[in-house]
Amino acid sequence: MSTDRTSLFGAREGNEGIVRCDACPVLCRIRPGRAGACSRYANHDGALVRTDPLVLMTRTVEQGGATVPFLDAAEDWHGGIAPAARPADTAPGAQKADIAPAAHASGGVPKEQTFVTAIGAGTTYPDYKPAPFIVASTHEGVDTVTVVTEGIFSYCGLKVKIDTDRHLGPECAPVRVQGEQIGHVTTAEYGSQMLSLGGVRHLTGGSKREGNITCAAMLALCRKEAVEVEIEGGARLVLQAGRAPVVNGVEERRMRVGCGSAAIGIFAGQWHRHLDEVIVVDDHITGVLTEHQAGKCLEMRPSGIRVRGRRSTPGRYFQVAHPGTGWGGTDITDPLSIIESIDPKAAWPGLRLLLTSTTGEDALYVELDEALRPVPAPMPPVVAGTVERIGENCEPALTSILFMAGAGGSLRAGVTQNPVLLTREVQRQGVRVTIGGAPCYLWPGGGITIMTDVLRVPDDAFGYVPTPALVAPIEFTLRADLYAALGGHVEQAVPLERVLADYAEAARLEPWRPGNPWPAP
Ligand code: SF4
Repeated sequence: MSTDRTSLFGAREGNEGIVRCDACPVLCRIRPGRAGACSRYANHDGALVRTDPLVLMTRTVEQGGATVPFLDAAEDWHGGIAPAARPADTAPGAQKADIAPAAHASGGVPKEQTFVTAIGAGTTYPDYKPAPFIVASTHEGVDTVTVVTEGIFSYCGLKVKIDTDRHLGPECAPVRVQGEQIGHVTTAEYGSQMLSLGGVRHLTGGSKREGNITCAAMLALCRKEAVEVEIEGGARLVLQAGRAPVVNGVEERRMRVGCGSAAIGIFAGQWHRHLDEVIVVDDHITGVLTEHQAGKCLEMRPSGIRVRGRRSTPGRYFQVAHPGTGWGGTDITDPLSIIESIDPKAAWPGLRLLLTSTTGEDALYVELDEALRPVPAPMPPVVAGTVERIGENCEPALTSILFMAGAGGSLRAGVTQNPVLLTREVQRQGVRVTIGGAPCYLWPGGGITIMTDVLRVPDDAFGYVPTPALVAPIEFTLRADLYAALGGHVEQAVPLERVLADYAEAARLEPWRPGNPWPAP
Protein backbone atom coordinates (compact mmCIF):
# COMPACT_ATOMS: atom_id res chain seq x y z
CA MET A 1 0.00 0.00 0.00
CA SER A 2 1.26 3.42 -0.85
CA THR A 3 0.93 5.53 2.26
CA ASP A 4 2.08 8.96 1.24
CA ARG A 5 -0.92 9.74 -0.96
CA THR A 6 -3.14 11.89 1.19
CA SER A 7 -6.51 12.90 -0.19
CA LEU A 8 -7.33 16.57 -0.09
CA PHE A 9 -10.90 15.75 0.76
CA GLY A 10 -11.08 13.06 3.45
CA ALA A 11 -12.39 14.28 6.81
CA ARG A 12 -11.78 13.01 10.33
CA GLU A 13 -14.85 12.00 12.31
CA GLY A 14 -15.18 11.59 16.07
CA ASN A 15 -12.43 10.54 18.43
CA GLU A 16 -11.77 7.03 17.16
CA GLY A 17 -9.53 8.08 14.33
CA ILE A 18 -12.27 7.38 11.76
CA VAL A 19 -11.84 9.11 8.43
CA ARG A 20 -14.73 9.73 6.10
CA CYS A 21 -13.82 9.19 2.46
CA ASP A 22 -15.64 11.55 0.13
CA ALA A 23 -14.12 10.37 -3.13
CA CYS A 24 -17.44 8.89 -4.23
CA PRO A 25 -21.10 9.05 -3.18
CA VAL A 26 -20.73 6.03 -0.86
CA LEU A 27 -18.93 8.22 1.72
CA CYS A 28 -17.28 5.35 3.62
CA ARG A 29 -16.36 5.84 7.26
CA ILE A 30 -12.99 4.13 7.46
CA ARG A 31 -11.40 3.00 10.71
CA PRO A 32 -7.63 3.31 11.25
CA GLY A 33 -5.69 0.70 9.31
CA ARG A 34 -8.72 -0.29 7.24
CA ALA A 35 -9.72 0.31 3.64
CA GLY A 36 -13.00 1.61 2.29
CA ALA A 37 -15.61 -0.48 0.48
CA CYS A 38 -13.83 -0.28 -2.86
CA SER A 39 -10.34 -0.84 -1.40
CA ARG A 40 -9.13 2.20 -3.33
CA TYR A 41 -8.84 4.38 -0.24
CA ALA A 42 -7.65 3.58 3.25
CA ASN A 43 -7.16 5.21 6.62
CA HIS A 44 -3.46 5.41 7.32
CA ASP A 45 -2.70 6.99 10.69
CA GLY A 46 -5.76 9.18 10.39
CA ALA A 47 -5.06 10.26 6.82
CA LEU A 48 -7.07 9.18 3.83
CA VAL A 49 -4.70 7.65 1.29
CA ARG A 50 -5.10 6.18 -2.16
CA THR A 51 -4.05 2.55 -1.91
CA ASP A 52 -2.64 2.14 -5.41
CA PRO A 53 0.39 4.05 -6.64
CA LEU A 54 0.13 6.78 -9.21
CA VAL A 55 1.31 5.40 -12.54
CA LEU A 56 3.82 7.41 -14.53
CA MET A 57 4.66 6.31 -18.06
CA THR A 58 7.91 7.19 -19.73
CA ARG A 59 9.25 6.91 -23.21
CA THR A 60 12.70 7.47 -24.60
CA VAL A 61 13.28 9.85 -27.48
CA GLU A 62 14.13 6.86 -29.67
CA GLN A 63 10.72 5.34 -28.96
CA GLY A 64 8.81 8.46 -29.73
CA GLY A 65 9.21 11.76 -31.46
CA ALA A 66 11.31 14.81 -30.94
CA THR A 67 13.31 15.58 -27.86
CA VAL A 68 11.52 17.88 -25.42
CA PRO A 69 13.55 19.82 -22.86
CA PHE A 70 12.30 19.63 -19.32
CA LEU A 71 12.17 22.77 -17.27
CA ASP A 72 15.01 23.11 -14.85
CA ALA A 73 12.86 24.24 -11.98
CA ALA A 74 9.29 25.17 -11.21
CA GLU A 75 10.10 28.89 -11.18
CA ASP A 76 11.11 28.70 -14.84
CA TRP A 77 7.66 27.64 -15.83
CA HIS A 78 6.26 30.21 -18.19
CA GLY A 79 3.04 28.58 -19.28
CA GLY A 80 1.10 31.24 -17.47
CA ILE A 81 -1.12 28.86 -15.58
CA ALA A 82 1.21 27.22 -13.11
CA PRO A 83 1.29 28.63 -9.62
CA ALA A 84 4.36 30.55 -8.61
CA ALA A 85 6.98 28.52 -6.77
CA ARG A 86 5.73 27.92 -3.26
CA PRO A 87 7.85 27.61 -0.14
CA ALA A 88 7.08 23.90 -0.24
CA ASP A 89 9.01 23.68 -3.48
CA THR A 90 12.20 24.39 -1.64
CA ALA A 91 11.33 22.17 1.29
CA PRO A 92 11.27 18.37 1.36
CA GLY A 93 9.72 18.05 -2.09
CA ALA A 94 12.38 20.24 -3.62
CA GLN A 95 15.04 17.73 -2.72
CA LYS A 96 13.15 15.16 -4.72
CA ALA A 97 12.65 17.73 -7.45
CA ASP A 98 16.37 17.91 -7.87
CA ILE A 99 16.47 14.18 -8.23
CA ALA A 100 13.54 13.54 -10.54
CA PRO A 101 14.49 15.74 -13.49
CA ALA A 102 18.04 14.48 -13.21
CA ALA A 103 16.73 11.00 -13.77
CA HIS A 104 15.14 12.23 -16.97
CA ALA A 105 17.91 14.45 -18.24
CA SER A 106 21.61 14.11 -18.78
CA GLY A 107 23.81 17.12 -19.47
CA GLY A 108 20.72 19.17 -20.21
CA VAL A 109 19.57 16.78 -22.91
CA PRO A 110 16.58 14.78 -21.74
CA LYS A 111 16.43 11.11 -22.46
CA GLU A 112 12.84 10.47 -21.52
CA GLN A 113 9.42 12.01 -21.51
CA THR A 114 6.95 11.28 -18.74
CA PHE A 115 3.18 11.16 -18.89
CA VAL A 116 1.16 11.29 -15.68
CA THR A 117 -1.66 8.80 -16.09
CA ALA A 118 -4.82 8.84 -14.03
CA ILE A 119 -4.14 5.33 -12.74
CA GLY A 120 -3.95 5.68 -8.96
CA ALA A 121 -4.59 9.42 -9.22
CA GLY A 122 -7.77 9.34 -7.18
CA THR A 123 -11.14 10.94 -7.68
CA THR A 124 -12.51 14.25 -6.57
CA TYR A 125 -16.17 14.27 -5.61
CA PRO A 126 -18.42 16.15 -6.15
CA ASP A 127 -17.06 16.95 -9.54
CA TYR A 128 -16.98 20.73 -9.29
CA LYS A 129 -13.76 20.24 -7.33
CA PRO A 130 -10.72 20.34 -9.61
CA ALA A 131 -9.34 17.02 -10.80
CA PRO A 132 -6.68 15.43 -8.57
CA PHE A 133 -3.84 16.32 -10.95
CA ILE A 134 -3.66 19.15 -13.43
CA VAL A 135 -0.20 18.78 -14.86
CA ALA A 136 1.59 21.48 -16.82
CA SER A 137 4.40 20.49 -19.16
CA THR A 138 5.77 21.27 -22.59
CA HIS A 139 5.60 19.21 -25.72
CA GLU A 140 7.69 20.23 -28.68
CA GLY A 141 7.82 23.73 -27.29
CA VAL A 142 4.08 23.97 -26.73
CA ASP A 143 2.83 24.63 -23.21
CA THR A 144 0.51 21.79 -22.41
CA VAL A 145 -1.85 20.73 -19.67
CA THR A 146 -2.97 17.21 -18.81
CA VAL A 147 -5.98 16.92 -16.52
CA VAL A 148 -5.90 13.62 -14.72
CA THR A 149 -8.64 11.88 -12.75
CA GLU A 150 -10.10 8.50 -12.05
CA GLY A 151 -13.59 8.79 -13.44
CA ILE A 152 -16.54 7.01 -11.85
CA PHE A 153 -18.57 5.66 -14.73
CA SER A 154 -22.15 4.64 -14.12
CA TYR A 155 -22.61 4.83 -17.87
CA CYS A 156 -20.17 2.35 -19.29
CA GLY A 157 -20.12 -0.98 -20.98
CA LEU A 158 -17.99 -3.42 -22.89
CA LYS A 159 -18.06 -4.41 -26.52
CA VAL A 160 -16.73 -7.94 -26.81
CA LYS A 161 -15.46 -9.33 -30.10
CA ILE A 162 -15.09 -13.09 -30.19
CA ASP A 163 -13.27 -14.46 -33.20
CA THR A 164 -15.29 -17.54 -34.07
CA ASP A 165 -17.85 -18.54 -36.64
CA ARG A 166 -19.54 -20.85 -34.19
CA HIS A 167 -23.04 -19.87 -33.26
CA LEU A 168 -22.90 -18.66 -29.67
CA GLY A 169 -26.54 -17.75 -29.24
CA PRO A 170 -29.42 -15.93 -30.89
CA GLU A 171 -29.09 -12.21 -31.47
CA CYS A 172 -30.44 -10.27 -28.45
CA ALA A 173 -30.11 -13.36 -26.23
CA PRO A 174 -29.26 -12.52 -22.61
CA VAL A 175 -25.69 -13.07 -21.47
CA ARG A 176 -25.56 -14.20 -17.87
CA VAL A 177 -23.05 -14.56 -15.06
CA GLN A 178 -24.15 -16.47 -11.97
CA GLY A 179 -27.68 -16.37 -13.36
CA GLU A 180 -27.81 -12.58 -13.64
CA GLN A 181 -28.10 -10.89 -17.01
CA ILE A 182 -25.09 -8.67 -17.63
CA GLY A 183 -25.60 -8.02 -21.34
CA HIS A 184 -26.76 -9.52 -24.61
CA VAL A 185 -25.66 -10.93 -27.94
CA THR A 186 -25.48 -8.26 -30.59
CA THR A 187 -24.90 -8.28 -34.34
CA ALA A 188 -22.26 -10.69 -35.61
CA GLU A 189 -19.40 -9.16 -37.54
CA TYR A 190 -17.15 -10.63 -40.20
CA GLY A 191 -15.63 -13.71 -38.61
CA SER A 192 -16.60 -12.65 -35.10
CA GLN A 193 -19.51 -12.94 -32.73
CA MET A 194 -20.18 -9.84 -30.67
CA LEU A 195 -21.51 -9.24 -27.17
CA SER A 196 -22.59 -6.02 -25.55
CA LEU A 197 -22.04 -6.18 -21.78
CA GLY A 198 -22.72 -3.90 -18.87
CA GLY A 199 -24.31 -0.54 -19.40
CA VAL A 200 -26.33 1.59 -17.09
CA ARG A 201 -29.45 -0.54 -17.28
CA HIS A 202 -27.77 -3.62 -15.85
CA LEU A 203 -25.76 -1.56 -13.36
CA THR A 204 -28.68 0.42 -12.01
CA GLY A 205 -31.96 -0.75 -13.53
CA GLY A 206 -32.28 -4.23 -12.08
CA SER A 207 -31.75 -5.81 -8.68
CA LYS A 208 -28.80 -4.93 -6.48
CA ARG A 209 -27.36 -8.37 -7.20
CA GLU A 210 -27.62 -7.83 -10.96
CA GLY A 211 -25.81 -4.50 -10.64
CA ASN A 212 -23.05 -5.91 -8.48
CA ILE A 213 -22.46 -8.99 -10.63
CA THR A 214 -22.47 -6.86 -13.79
CA CYS A 215 -19.94 -4.48 -12.25
CA ALA A 216 -17.71 -7.32 -11.03
CA ALA A 217 -17.76 -9.06 -14.42
CA MET A 218 -16.94 -5.86 -16.28
CA LEU A 219 -14.15 -5.05 -13.86
CA ALA A 220 -12.59 -8.48 -14.26
CA LEU A 221 -12.75 -8.26 -18.06
CA CYS A 222 -11.23 -4.76 -18.02
CA ARG A 223 -8.47 -6.12 -15.80
CA LYS A 224 -7.79 -8.74 -18.47
CA GLU A 225 -9.01 -11.58 -16.27
CA ALA A 226 -11.04 -14.58 -17.43
CA VAL A 227 -14.81 -14.52 -16.93
CA GLU A 228 -17.22 -17.36 -17.64
CA VAL A 229 -20.54 -16.32 -19.15
CA GLU A 230 -23.56 -18.25 -20.35
CA ILE A 231 -25.72 -17.24 -23.27
CA GLU A 232 -29.38 -18.08 -22.92
CA GLY A 233 -30.19 -20.72 -25.53
CA GLY A 234 -26.56 -20.80 -26.59
CA ALA A 235 -23.03 -21.51 -25.49
CA ARG A 236 -20.99 -21.26 -22.33
CA LEU A 237 -17.96 -19.09 -22.89
CA VAL A 238 -14.76 -18.20 -21.13
CA LEU A 239 -13.74 -14.71 -22.16
CA GLN A 240 -10.40 -13.01 -21.54
CA ALA A 241 -8.91 -10.08 -23.42
CA GLY A 242 -6.18 -11.14 -25.80
CA ARG A 243 -6.83 -14.87 -25.29
CA ALA A 244 -8.60 -17.42 -27.42
CA PRO A 245 -12.30 -17.75 -26.53
CA VAL A 246 -13.35 -21.03 -24.98
CA VAL A 247 -16.69 -22.22 -26.38
CA ASN A 248 -18.43 -24.98 -24.46
CA GLY A 249 -15.11 -26.04 -22.97
CA VAL A 250 -13.24 -26.09 -26.27
CA GLU A 251 -10.63 -23.46 -26.99
CA GLU A 252 -11.25 -21.81 -30.35
CA ARG A 253 -8.19 -21.81 -32.57
CA ARG A 254 -8.92 -20.18 -35.90
CA MET A 255 -10.69 -17.06 -37.08
CA ARG A 256 -12.16 -18.01 -40.43
CA VAL A 257 -10.62 -16.90 -43.69
CA GLY A 258 -13.91 -15.31 -44.77
CA CYS A 259 -17.48 -16.32 -45.50
CA GLY A 260 -18.18 -19.29 -47.77
CA SER A 261 -18.48 -17.06 -50.81
CA ALA A 262 -15.25 -15.23 -49.98
CA ALA A 263 -13.42 -18.53 -49.58
CA ILE A 264 -14.61 -19.53 -53.06
CA GLY A 265 -13.37 -16.19 -54.39
CA ILE A 266 -9.98 -16.63 -52.75
CA PHE A 267 -9.23 -20.25 -53.59
CA ALA A 268 -11.12 -20.87 -56.84
CA GLY A 269 -7.96 -20.67 -58.92
CA GLN A 270 -6.21 -23.21 -56.69
CA TRP A 271 -9.15 -25.65 -56.81
CA HIS A 272 -9.65 -25.34 -60.55
CA ARG A 273 -8.52 -28.48 -62.44
CA HIS A 274 -8.03 -30.48 -59.22
CA LEU A 275 -11.71 -30.55 -58.31
CA ASP A 276 -15.02 -30.50 -60.13
CA GLU A 277 -17.00 -28.88 -57.34
CA VAL A 278 -16.34 -27.26 -53.96
CA ILE A 279 -18.91 -26.39 -51.31
CA VAL A 280 -17.74 -24.08 -48.51
CA VAL A 281 -20.17 -24.54 -45.63
CA ASP A 282 -21.04 -21.35 -43.80
CA ASP A 283 -23.96 -20.41 -41.58
CA HIS A 284 -24.30 -17.08 -43.35
CA ILE A 285 -23.20 -17.45 -46.99
CA THR A 286 -22.40 -20.93 -48.26
CA GLY A 287 -20.45 -20.94 -51.50
CA VAL A 288 -20.76 -23.38 -54.43
CA LEU A 289 -17.81 -23.11 -56.79
CA THR A 290 -19.11 -23.99 -60.26
CA GLU A 291 -22.22 -21.87 -59.81
CA HIS A 292 -20.29 -18.96 -58.27
CA GLN A 293 -18.99 -16.15 -60.48
CA ALA A 294 -15.46 -17.39 -59.73
CA GLY A 295 -16.29 -20.78 -61.28
CA LYS A 296 -17.92 -19.07 -64.23
CA CYS A 297 -14.83 -16.97 -64.87
CA LEU A 298 -12.74 -20.16 -64.80
CA GLU A 299 -15.22 -21.76 -67.25
CA MET A 300 -15.92 -24.64 -64.90
CA ARG A 301 -18.56 -27.13 -65.96
CA PRO A 302 -21.75 -26.98 -63.79
CA SER A 303 -21.79 -29.95 -61.44
CA GLY A 304 -25.54 -30.22 -61.01
CA ILE A 305 -25.09 -30.36 -57.22
CA ARG A 306 -27.66 -28.23 -55.47
CA VAL A 307 -27.32 -27.31 -51.81
CA ARG A 308 -30.08 -26.60 -49.34
CA GLY A 309 -31.05 -23.09 -48.35
CA ARG A 310 -32.12 -19.89 -50.03
CA ARG A 311 -30.22 -18.91 -53.13
CA SER A 312 -29.10 -15.31 -52.90
CA THR A 313 -27.05 -14.90 -56.05
CA PRO A 314 -25.40 -17.58 -58.21
CA GLY A 315 -23.26 -19.85 -56.03
CA ARG A 316 -24.16 -18.03 -52.80
CA TYR A 317 -26.70 -19.62 -50.43
CA PHE A 318 -28.22 -18.39 -47.19
CA GLN A 319 -29.72 -20.56 -44.41
CA VAL A 320 -28.32 -23.90 -45.54
CA ALA A 321 -28.87 -25.21 -42.02
CA HIS A 322 -29.58 -24.02 -38.52
CA PRO A 323 -26.92 -22.08 -36.62
CA GLY A 324 -24.78 -24.21 -34.34
CA THR A 325 -21.32 -25.26 -33.36
CA GLY A 326 -20.82 -27.65 -36.26
CA TRP A 327 -19.32 -26.97 -39.66
CA GLY A 328 -18.98 -23.26 -40.48
CA GLY A 329 -21.18 -22.08 -37.63
CA THR A 330 -24.05 -24.34 -38.69
CA ASP A 331 -25.46 -27.33 -36.83
CA ILE A 332 -24.15 -29.59 -39.58
CA THR A 333 -22.00 -32.48 -38.47
CA ASP A 334 -22.67 -34.63 -41.55
CA PRO A 335 -21.61 -32.34 -44.40
CA LEU A 336 -23.32 -34.44 -47.05
CA SER A 337 -26.65 -33.48 -45.49
CA ILE A 338 -26.20 -30.05 -47.04
CA ILE A 339 -26.73 -31.52 -50.52
CA GLU A 340 -30.34 -31.17 -51.56
CA SER A 341 -30.13 -32.81 -54.98
CA ILE A 342 -27.75 -33.96 -57.68
CA ASP A 343 -28.99 -33.39 -61.22
CA PRO A 344 -28.30 -36.56 -63.28
CA LYS A 345 -28.32 -34.52 -66.46
CA ALA A 346 -25.40 -32.42 -65.27
CA ALA A 347 -23.41 -34.57 -62.82
CA TRP A 348 -21.22 -37.48 -63.84
CA PRO A 349 -19.65 -40.53 -62.20
CA GLY A 350 -16.23 -39.77 -60.80
CA LEU A 351 -17.07 -36.12 -60.13
CA ARG A 352 -14.57 -34.83 -57.51
CA LEU A 353 -16.21 -32.83 -54.72
CA LEU A 354 -14.61 -31.05 -51.77
CA LEU A 355 -16.70 -29.91 -48.82
CA THR A 356 -14.92 -27.68 -46.35
CA SER A 357 -15.68 -25.31 -43.51
CA THR A 358 -14.55 -21.69 -43.59
CA THR A 359 -11.57 -22.46 -41.35
CA GLY A 360 -10.50 -25.68 -43.05
CA GLU A 361 -10.80 -27.46 -39.69
CA ASP A 362 -13.54 -29.62 -41.18
CA ALA A 363 -13.14 -30.99 -44.68
CA LEU A 364 -14.37 -33.99 -46.66
CA TYR A 365 -13.41 -35.22 -50.11
CA VAL A 366 -15.91 -37.37 -52.02
CA GLU A 367 -16.34 -38.74 -55.52
CA LEU A 368 -19.64 -39.61 -57.19
CA ASP A 369 -20.12 -43.32 -57.91
CA GLU A 370 -21.91 -44.79 -60.88
CA ALA A 371 -25.28 -44.02 -59.26
CA LEU A 372 -24.12 -40.42 -58.65
CA ARG A 373 -23.94 -40.99 -54.91
CA PRO A 374 -21.17 -39.14 -53.07
CA VAL A 375 -18.69 -41.62 -51.65
CA PRO A 376 -15.88 -40.49 -49.27
CA ALA A 377 -12.45 -41.09 -50.77
CA PRO A 378 -8.84 -40.36 -49.80
CA MET A 379 -8.18 -36.66 -50.28
CA PRO A 380 -5.57 -36.09 -53.00
CA PRO A 381 -2.46 -34.36 -51.62
CA VAL A 382 -2.94 -31.33 -53.83
CA VAL A 383 -6.48 -30.87 -52.50
CA ALA A 384 -5.29 -31.41 -48.94
CA GLY A 385 -2.78 -28.66 -49.62
CA THR A 386 -5.57 -26.22 -50.44
CA VAL A 387 -7.38 -27.11 -47.22
CA GLU A 388 -4.16 -26.47 -45.33
CA ARG A 389 -3.91 -23.15 -47.17
CA ILE A 390 -7.34 -22.18 -45.83
CA GLY A 391 -6.09 -22.87 -42.31
CA GLU A 392 -2.89 -20.96 -43.00
CA ASN A 393 -4.97 -17.94 -43.97
CA CYS A 394 -6.96 -18.02 -40.76
CA GLU A 395 -5.79 -15.74 -37.98
CA PRO A 396 -5.58 -16.88 -34.37
CA ALA A 397 -8.97 -16.60 -32.69
CA LEU A 398 -8.91 -13.95 -29.97
CA THR A 399 -11.25 -12.25 -27.56
CA SER A 400 -11.14 -8.45 -27.66
CA ILE A 401 -12.62 -6.28 -24.92
CA LEU A 402 -13.36 -2.64 -25.65
CA PHE A 403 -14.27 -0.40 -22.74
CA MET A 404 -16.86 2.19 -23.70
CA ALA A 405 -17.94 5.06 -21.50
CA GLY A 406 -19.55 8.43 -21.50
CA ALA A 407 -17.24 11.11 -20.15
CA GLY A 408 -19.69 13.81 -21.14
CA GLY A 409 -21.14 14.05 -17.66
CA SER A 410 -20.14 15.65 -14.43
CA LEU A 411 -16.46 14.69 -14.38
CA ARG A 412 -15.96 17.45 -16.93
CA ALA A 413 -16.51 19.92 -14.10
CA GLY A 414 -13.24 18.76 -12.59
CA VAL A 415 -11.57 19.85 -15.83
CA THR A 416 -13.32 23.14 -16.53
CA GLN A 417 -15.98 25.30 -15.03
CA ASN A 418 -17.86 25.42 -18.32
CA PRO A 419 -18.07 21.75 -19.33
CA VAL A 420 -19.67 22.21 -22.73
CA LEU A 421 -16.56 24.03 -23.90
CA LEU A 422 -14.51 20.95 -23.08
CA THR A 423 -16.97 18.76 -24.95
CA ARG A 424 -16.77 20.95 -28.02
CA GLU A 425 -12.98 21.02 -27.97
CA VAL A 426 -12.81 17.25 -27.60
CA GLN A 427 -15.12 16.95 -30.59
CA ARG A 428 -12.94 19.43 -32.53
CA GLN A 429 -9.94 17.30 -31.59
CA GLY A 430 -8.34 20.15 -29.68
CA VAL A 431 -8.23 17.89 -26.63
CA ARG A 432 -6.66 14.44 -26.61
CA VAL A 433 -8.57 11.99 -24.41
CA THR A 434 -6.74 8.92 -23.13
CA ILE A 435 -7.53 6.08 -20.75
CA GLY A 436 -4.39 5.34 -18.80
CA GLY A 437 -2.44 6.72 -21.76
CA ALA A 438 -4.29 4.50 -24.23
CA PRO A 439 -5.86 6.24 -27.21
CA CYS A 440 -9.66 6.42 -27.37
CA TYR A 441 -12.02 6.31 -30.28
CA LEU A 442 -14.43 9.22 -29.92
CA TRP A 443 -17.95 8.50 -31.10
CA PRO A 444 -19.49 11.14 -33.35
CA GLY A 445 -22.39 13.20 -32.14
CA GLY A 446 -22.94 14.76 -28.76
CA GLY A 447 -21.10 14.17 -25.52
CA ILE A 448 -17.71 12.57 -24.98
CA THR A 449 -18.46 8.95 -25.69
CA ILE A 450 -15.21 7.05 -25.93
CA MET A 451 -14.04 3.53 -26.51
CA THR A 452 -10.68 1.90 -25.95
CA ASP A 453 -9.06 -1.51 -26.13
CA VAL A 454 -8.28 -2.67 -22.60
CA LEU A 455 -5.13 -4.39 -23.87
CA ARG A 456 -3.66 -0.96 -24.61
CA VAL A 457 -4.23 0.16 -21.02
CA PRO A 458 -1.65 -0.66 -18.31
CA ASP A 459 -2.47 -3.41 -15.84
CA ASP A 460 -4.41 -2.64 -12.65
CA ALA A 461 -5.91 0.47 -14.19
CA PHE A 462 -9.59 -0.17 -13.52
CA GLY A 463 -11.46 -0.22 -10.23
CA TYR A 464 -14.99 0.06 -8.97
CA VAL A 465 -17.15 1.69 -6.37
CA PRO A 466 -20.13 -0.06 -4.87
CA THR A 467 -22.74 2.39 -6.15
CA PRO A 468 -22.12 0.24 -8.41
CA ALA A 469 -19.96 1.81 -11.11
CA LEU A 470 -16.64 1.20 -12.77
CA VAL A 471 -13.68 3.45 -12.08
CA ALA A 472 -11.43 4.14 -15.04
CA PRO A 473 -8.47 6.45 -15.50
CA ILE A 474 -9.04 9.33 -17.88
CA GLU A 475 -6.70 12.07 -19.01
CA PHE A 476 -7.44 15.19 -21.06
CA THR A 477 -4.39 16.73 -22.74
CA LEU A 478 -4.57 20.12 -24.43
CA ARG A 479 -2.66 23.35 -25.03
CA ALA A 480 -2.27 25.48 -21.93
CA ASP A 481 -3.74 28.58 -23.56
CA LEU A 482 -6.74 26.59 -24.73
CA TYR A 483 -7.19 25.19 -21.23
CA ALA A 484 -7.33 28.70 -19.85
CA ALA A 485 -9.79 29.73 -22.56
CA LEU A 486 -12.07 26.81 -21.66
CA GLY A 487 -12.36 28.04 -18.10
CA GLY A 488 -10.01 25.36 -16.77
CA HIS A 489 -8.88 25.22 -13.17
CA VAL A 490 -5.64 26.90 -14.12
CA GLU A 491 -4.80 27.91 -10.58
CA GLN A 492 -4.53 24.22 -9.70
CA ALA A 493 -2.02 23.36 -12.39
CA VAL A 494 1.36 22.15 -11.19
CA PRO A 495 4.49 21.64 -13.26
CA LEU A 496 5.28 18.12 -14.27
CA GLU A 497 8.58 18.43 -12.44
CA ARG A 498 6.80 18.93 -9.17
CA VAL A 499 4.65 15.84 -9.71
CA LEU A 500 7.76 13.86 -10.55
CA ALA A 501 9.48 15.19 -7.46
CA ASP A 502 6.59 14.51 -5.13
CA TYR A 503 5.89 11.03 -6.46
CA ALA A 504 9.33 9.89 -7.57
CA GLU A 505 9.47 7.22 -4.90
CA ALA A 506 5.82 6.28 -4.49
CA ALA A 507 4.83 6.14 -8.16
CA ARG A 508 4.78 3.05 -10.33
CA LEU A 509 6.90 3.65 -13.39
CA GLU A 510 5.88 1.99 -16.61
CA PRO A 511 7.38 2.18 -20.07
CA TRP A 512 5.22 3.85 -22.66
CA ARG A 513 3.34 1.25 -24.65
CA PRO A 514 4.65 0.93 -28.19
CA GLY A 515 1.83 1.62 -30.62
CA ASN A 516 0.05 4.10 -28.36
CA PRO A 517 0.49 7.62 -29.74
CA TRP A 518 2.02 10.12 -27.34
CA PRO A 519 -0.86 12.27 -26.09
CA ALA A 520 0.22 15.62 -27.43
CA PRO A 521 -2.42 18.29 -28.11
S1 SF4 B 1 -16.31 3.31 -1.95
FE1 SF4 B 1 -14.15 3.85 -2.14
S2 SF4 B 1 -14.11 5.86 -3.09
FE2 SF4 B 1 -16.21 5.52 -2.35
S3 SF4 B 1 -16.25 6.47 -0.34
FE3 SF4 B 1 -15.75 4.30 -0.03
S4 SF4 B 1 -13.49 4.23 -0.02
FE4 SF4 B 1 -14.08 6.21 -0.87
